[in-house]
Amino acid sequence: MKGSLFKVNTILNLYSICGINSSTMDFEYIIDSHTHWGPSITLGTHVSTGEIKRQQVETGITHVVVMPFPSTAIENNAINTRLFAETEKEKAFIPYHYIREDYDRDGFDPVPEEYYGGKWHWMRGWQDTASNYKILNDKNLPGLIEKLRKIDKPVIFEEELSFTEQFVAMADGLKLIIPHLGMLGGNPVDFLRSLKNCESVYFDTALASQDTILRFVEIIGPERVIFGSDIPFGTMKTELSKVLTLSIPDKDKELIVSGNIIRLTGWQGQCG
Ligand SMILES: [Zn+2]
Repeated sequence: MKGSLFKVNTILNLYSICGINSSTMDFEYIIDSHTHWGPSITLGTHVSTGEIKRQQVETGITHVVVMPFPSTAIENNAINTRLFAETEKEKAFIPYHYIREDYDRDGFDPVPEEYYGGKWHWMRGWQDTASNYKILNDKNLPGLIEKLRKIDKPVIFEEELSFTEQFVAMADGLKLIIPHLGMLGGNPVDFLRSLKNCESVYFDTALASQDTILRFVEIIGPERVIFGSDIPFGTMKTELSKVLTLSIPDKDKELIVSGNIIRLTGWQGQCG
């Protein structure tokens, strides 16, 4: 692991040169917990392995959680399989499985064993726009929750605040990571107020403002805040610098950039 430690330190020294005080930071891992990989049908874009690796080199990020774009995964499950195959070649990549919408199908497996977590995105709803509240009354939803509970892996969960509150009440103990501090499902401050005492609910920092990230860390603690970039919607460089320049102790920053996601996923560590 010496190589990656050296790399991280080098990058952090660069931050110091740029006037950012990080001289004592010495993290073995920096993990981006939210990156999209592959083609997006709706956006007409494509995130390549090469682009992710380029941003890793630029920032010193050692490992990356990768997941398919929602539209691509909803249309065809092949992207989940292709993504996993890519993570077998790229050891710095950590695979997440997109939880598709046919969850009432016999034999449906929301997060197969070889994946470290799942992505839930406006289930049968209008992506990034509106939740489908009929899901909450679906007779098959408790079965899906039961499966997720047994799998016991983190799920990046994106829905409106009211949907999220009702789901959390049904799915007590499920490890949910709300992306963007809740920004796409409502106001982050409302998410914080409503879910601050739900110990199994976490938040990722992607695209959020630094002030809001700090507010979350102060109220729910660094143990429940997780660094992510949401490539291609954000860049590793901008999103990581928001966390590394927070006025909090280095040990808290380390939880946010690696400790929490390692604890949640049970990832064992590999050389990138
Ligand atoms: Zn995303």
